[in-house]
Amino acid sequence: MHSQIKTVNSTTTVPGDPSGKETIVVALGGNAILKPGEKGTFAEQMTNIGHTAVQLARLICEGKQLIITHGNGPQVGRIFRQQELGVQAGLPEMPLYICGAMSQAQIGVMIQQAMHNELVLAGCPKTVVTMICQTLVDQESAAFRDPTKPIGSFYSEEEALKAMTEKGETWKEDGGRGWRRVVPSPEPLEIPEIKAVKLLIKKDVNVIVSGGGGTPVARNSGGTVAGVDAVVEKDLVAQEVARAVAADTLLILTDVKHAKINYRTPQEQKLGEISLAEAKEYHRQGHFQPGSMGPKVLAAIRFVESGGGKAVITSLEDALSGAEGKTGTIIKRSGAADGSPG
Ligand code: ADP
Ligand code: MG
Repeated sequence: MHSQIKTVNSTTTVPGDPSGKETIVVALGGNAILKPGEKGTFAEQMTNIGHTAVQLARLICEGKQLIITHGNGPQVGRIFRQQELGVQAGLPEMPLYICGAMSQAQIGVMIQQAMHNELVLAGCPKTVVTMICQTLVDQESAAFRDPTKPIGSFYSEEEALKAMTEKGETWKEDGGRGWRRVVPSPEPLEIPEIKAVKLLIKKDVNVIVSGGGGTPVARNSGGTVAGVDAVVEKDLVAQEVARAVAADTLLILTDVKHAKINYRTPQEQKLGEISLAEAKEYHRQGHFQPGSMGPKVLAAIRFVESGGGKAVITSLEDALSGAEGKTGTIIKRSGAADGSPG
């Protein structure tokens, strides 16, 4: 489905940006690619991405510079499963971080193609390209001592024990459903390719970077890097990219319109525009679940704290008004005009 996109010669000047162009880092949640209950066929994924591309292309046509990142959970899970099944056919298995890179390319090109087509239809001559990026992590950090992120399928205790002794992997029993491999979820320290990202955006190219949190790598003593099996939260990587390119806006698009306090209690309240101090206090009080809303609010806090203009958490459908800071949970350094929660 293609909507009518009107091209606008935007002349909006953003304070602090000499080019006068607003730079937005967009973090796309899993629902941009796959909806709950879907099987995950290529056609289903392409349809969902098509709807997302309409919104993102419109932002570009309005004169914004986009840097897009996205989740990869279901996709990397399937690529990983394909590796496991391939072993039975005598095919060599690729490490998890290479499966992640495959998913960066797979999802990246789908978004890239859908956006290319939307831009062509809108008569907006802009380029979108996918960059397979690495994410530097610290193998000495606490995340590596206690892996928490489950990946792949469920297995029997016997198979789990075999993988633990033979491959040195960590496996955990998952709520009576069976055993799953768990990997560390470390902090992103740096994007080794950030210079290339900056060069491209300087040349007006819109980029898709660090999908699924990027390919995790650890630095060796000589400065070289090597891949590690870990999964970095894509929201935290989006923040790191946004900080590094001095973006104006961090736009986190997910399946809910607002972050909430007292989530799933009778006292639940949506958060509108809040100050950095309020966001930090609510985060400290534990209102946002780890592994879902927690990293989004943390990314928003870090971005604004590092000098970013505004961070917005809202639903995919509200991308356009979210980018303008009119919808969703909006975090700014000095905070709420109208007071929140509301
Ligand atoms: P994404 O793929 O966009 O990263 P996640 O599932 O990781 O999506 O995060 C979004 C989910 O976070 C929401 O669907 C909601 O169930 C959950 N969530 C956890 N805590 C909160 C909260 N305090 N307010 C709103 N949503 C929350
Ligand atoms: Mg998430």
